[in-house]
Amino acid sequence: MNRQNAPKGIEWTRIKDPDGTVRPGYTWNPTGGCFHGCTWEMPDGSITECYAKTIAERFTRAYSHGFEHHYWRPHNLDAPLKVKEKAGIFVGSMADLFGHWVPEDHIWQVLHKMSEADWHIFQTLSKFPIRLPKFGQFPDNVWVGVSLPAGHLMSETGGARGLKAYLKHMKHIKATVRFMSIEPLWFDVAPVLEQWLETEGELPFEWAIIGAASNGSRVFQPKREWTAGLVEQLNAQKVPIFFKGNMAWEIWYEAFPKAA
Ligand code: SF4
Repeated sequence: MNRQNAPKGIEWTRIKDPDGTVRPGYTWNPTGGCFHGCTWEMPDGSITECYAKTIAERFTRAYSHGFEHHYWRPHNLDAPLKVKEKAGIFVGSMADLFGHWVPEDHIWQVLHKMSEADWHIFQTLSKFPIRLPKFGQFPDNVWVGVSLPAGHLMSETGGARGLKAYLKHMKHIKATVRFMSIEPLWFDVAPVLEQWLETEGELPFEWAIIGAASNGSRVFQPKREWTAGLVEQLNAQKVPIFFKGNMAWEIWYEAFPKAA
């Protein structure tokens, strides 16, 4: 089953309230640029780089120092306050807000703004989870996400090792909703989670986004057993699953965490 007629943009920002109301989804970039340099090797051997970097290199006026640079845009800080209707807002679609290069003061300013605009749900996503617990209790309307380590130049064993380390940091994040973006699902994640559960008893996240790998218009589905194992495990743990529009699977999942 595929997601039919999926609207463009980041679908998981269009959160659904418990009563079924679908909220508009936006992206907000008070910071820009990223130093992680993520690339992925596709099953056909082609290499794809981060989509945000590709976009930044097209918009050279906004990214005049290239993508690997920290852009601080304080004039953007009030943007969410101007949106009066409740929305899902992904913070940093063109950045990693919690990257090691971002001054702590900038992060606090963004966090305070999210707290002020408390009628919205904000979603952050980082590949530097070691920093996240340092910010203490996140505001209730902030969902704190961590994405799977990027796959190029890394073996599947390396990916599993990276994920184990990420889970350890996620355990210490204080947030109403912690989530894991497993996109693309490029190695067998389920055994890592199983091992974690054996020692820890519960997963350190309340929501999971799963996506296939893509390079331009070419989409590569994860191995069948990887998806099956992961879905089974998340269902057993009652972790709501959201499939990105590029997934193909027998059962469609588009659930949001309870805090929506
Ligand atoms: S962390 Fe995100 S924004 Fe940064 S390079 Fe990787 S995919 Fe791109």
